Amino acid sequence: MVENTVDQHEHVDLLVIGWGKGGKTLAGTMARAGKRVAVVEQSDAMIGGSCINIACIPTKILVHDAENKRDGDDTDEYFAKAVERRDTLTGAMRKKNFSMLNDLDSVLLVSGRAEFTGEREVLVTGGEDTMTITADTVVVNTGSIANIPPIDGATLGGRIYDSEALQHVSPFPKRLVVVGGGYIGLEFASMFTHFGSQVTVLDRGERPLASEDADVAEVVAKALADDGVTIVNEASVTAVADGPDKATVTYEVGGEEKTIDAEAVLLAVGRASGTEGLNLDKAGIETDKRGFITVDEHLRTSAEDVFAAGDVNGGPMFTYISLDDNRILADQLLGEGKRTTEDRSAVPFTMFLTPPVARVGLSEDAAREQGYDVMVGAKAMADIAAAPRAKIEGDPRGIVKFVVDGKTDRILGAALVHVHSQEVINTVALAMRHDVTATELRDTIYTHPSATEALNEVLGVVK
Ligand SMILES: Cc1cc2nc3c(=O)[nH]c(=O)nc-3n(C[C@H](O)[C@H](O)[C@H](O)COP(=O)(O)OP(=O)(O)OC[C@H]3O[C@@H](n4cnc5c(N)ncnc54)[C@H](O)[C@@H]3O)c2cc1C
Repeated sequence: MVENTVDQHEHVDLLVIGWGKGGKTLAGTMARAGKRVAVVEQSDAMIGGSCINIACIPTKILVHDAENKRDGDDTDEYFAKAVERRDTLTGAMRKKNFSMLNDLDSVLLVSGRAEFTGEREVLVTGGEDTMTITADTVVVNTGSIANIPPIDGATLGGRIYDSEALQHVSPFPKRLVVVGGGYIGLEFASMFTHFGSQVTVLDRGERPLASEDADVAEVVAKALADDGVTIVNEASVTAVADGPDKATVTYEVGGEEKTIDAEAVLLAVGRASGTEGLNLDKAGIETDKRGFITVDEHLRTSAEDVFAAGDVNGGPMFTYISLDDNRILADQLLGEGKRTTEDRSAVPFTMFLTPPVARVGLSEDAAREQGYDVMVGAKAMADIAAAPRAKIEGDPRGIVKFVVDGKTDRILGAALVHVHSQEVINTVALAMRHDVTATELRDTIYTHPSATEALNEVLGVVK
């Protein structure tokens, strides 16, 4: 599908390694500005990058379908259909992503794995073919991969999965053990419990969502528990053993050794940098202790005219951050060079649980630690009379919590746990970025019946 050349050499204005969100967007912009651009991608199944192929989009298709499963639905059949829908939609997006770059005359798409052989020089190997590319500017956009913990027996394959492989698990597992209670682990736990698995999460933390305020974390933990997820806290997994009918996970909790069996085990203990085999040292590109490429606020690496965008630079691992990295790079390469990572503010995130958990800014605890004159407005979603949307949709669970600076009336942060919170959080983030006060946000006109209306009521109880 993608152009490949045998033993050829190309020189381009911009070389993008990896078809990630930031890199592909920048490649398009630069090509439209008349630059010669090469994009190297190691896998035809990854055209368009992680987000559309193995991460955000496919998982959210599965989350959506899991939430819509009804009592009478046959679990195996229903899951297989959801996976089919996932594959169809991601396939269409992959095709669209391919044309978005392929249709531009000055873009050279190269299929193969890149490794540095010198300063702004890479060798690309795709099967038997090789190609050397040199460039005036290089952007490394190779993403991240699942971190495999140094636990006895924790090797991918058989019944041991990472987040990518679990999306195609077959047959559907009656029992799923998730090692790690971070956002990926909890999203899969929530998704699989709705599809019909008996899910247990083993997590090291003292409580779920340790970086959230206790009241918010408690609401989320209760929703997960009500939906059937068991979370074992302060659990240290010591071994994973695969077997013909089941896998067994051994863990320690409260000084006791325990085991749990499951048809599938998900390893979800963070992400490692996608730099393996890139030979960064040949190009003078430095990494941090965790292996992520070190960059300054303009995303410059230690090597001249080499930048790193997206997960691989160790910043927040979200598609929209990779997209924003692209804005910084476009400004460096075509604009005034003013945009930096430091001018980002109020960056929100969402965990797509049921209901979703969306956050921006400071938690109450963090705001207190930072010495603010903290005021708080919080209400359980079910008690917010002015926002019936969640009740209409049959899931009134959750909480809406605002943290406000008592001196300036500025919003310091918000935690929204309710249906559509992934949308509402963007309004709050925009307000924060533009210094809209809590009072102004309270007194704004919102459509009805929407989840956003909760702001009218909750910001009215700030004290
Ligand atoms: C399960 C899961 C769910 C997620 N859900 C969300 C979500 O809902 N919302 C959100 O914002 N973020 C989500 N993320 C995070 C998001 O997917 C990443 O932050 C984002 O995709 C990173 O994009 P990127 O630009 O860094 O590169 P990527 O999109 O990861 O692209 C890197 C590309 O480089 C290629 N590559 C690697 N090495 C080489 C090489 N040597 N030569 C050639 N090509 C190479 C890879 O094949 C890959 O296609 C999720 C992540 C996971 C794992």
